[in-house]
Amino acid sequence: MKITKLTTWRVPPRWMFLKIETDEGITGWGEPIVEGRARTVEAAVHELSEYLVGQDPRRINDLWQVMYRGGFYRGGPILMSAIAGIDQALWDIHGKALGKPVYELIGGRVRDKVKTYCWVGGDRPAEIVDGMRHARTLGFDTFKMNGTEEMDHIATHADVDRALEKFTQIREAFGNQIDFGIDFHGRVSVPMAKVLLRELEPLRPLFVEEPVLAEQWEHYARLAEHTAIPLAAGERMYSRFDFKRVFEAGGISILQPDVSHAGGITECVKIASMAEAYDVAVAPHCPLGPVALAACLQVDLVSHNAVFQEQSMGIHYNQGAELLDYVVNREDFAVDQGHVRASEKPGLGVIVDEERIVEASRRAADWRNPVWRHADGSVAEW
Ligand SMILES: [Mg+2]
Repeated sequence: MKITKLTTWRVPPRWMFLKIETDEGITGWGEPIVEGRARTVEAAVHELSEYLVGQDPRRINDLWQVMYRGGFYRGGPILMSAIAGIDQALWDIHGKALGKPVYELIGGRVRDKVKTYCWVGGDRPAEIVDGMRHARTLGFDTFKMNGTEEMDHIATHADVDRALEKFTQIREAFGNQIDFGIDFHGRVSVPMAKVLLRELEPLRPLFVEEPVLAEQWEHYARLAEHTAIPLAAGERMYSRFDFKRVFEAGGISILQPDVSHAGGITECVKIASMAEAYDVAVAPHCPLGPVALAACLQVDLVSHNAVFQEQSMGIHYNQGAELLDYVVNREDFAVDQGHVRASEKPGLGVIVDEERIVEASRRAADWRNPVWRHADGSVAEW
């Protein structure tokens, strides 16, 4: 079997689909994307296609190493996301060629279903409590939300109180019947992270994500010594080589590699395995589309330390399309009491609606995150 062609489509809300075709008529799908930099990743995918066309798509380990090492410069969000989407599509082809789900090709599954959680995106406490009530009717009992809006390097007590208010109201509304993780989104400085973690601890969040920016990773261990709240991070780390220093420094309890940013299934299975050796749990980051989610589920299904899976159903970014809009076999993604079952379908287990993708690509806007500014006019982390 030989790879013949790579085609990409940028689609709403902020995703990109890649189709890899072969001379045997088997096709594979991937989602190579950096949210807000879709065109840059798209260019990288097509540059990497020179290494792929004419090659056997089943030699995934070799093609991965060629893409990673062949160009001298390596790593980072753009190149590793391009490799990630290609890697997903290669696994999809390999599985379809053998008539097996990808998880069967990477050692077999360690669980039958994967726990997922649901974003609640409103900014005000009342909106969040209502959003959680609705999501509970869909079977979710675990949630994630942003911790703060923009926060000054040294924030006021009023800012801290405002950040705490919504979490206090959640516990008042639901008691300990639900769990929630809090995403600081890298908006919080090291000194304010210390304050917020101490204040949040009595409210028993499941985890705090990106308590400080990924480039401040050396602070994770020190922050972890100040709090019993498990700390999570990883969506802005792109390979084993980024993750190894975080493991060695310690402090992270839940690792969140993004299977569309960190080199795909091939690399994320290895990252999860490294995490297991450090007694660190894995919860792949995935505010993306259905192919990315299906790729994450393959990693979850074979990783003993995978604890829960992010998914984008109802996420505030999904303007213009929802998680399953481009999927034919939606029933395979049904959430039952907060869990998604392992699909028996070959490859990644997603049957994409190509016609709809092509049509939607004609109205794809270039999604950007907002550029926020502090009250004094200086730029703020989003
Ligand atoms: Mg996050």
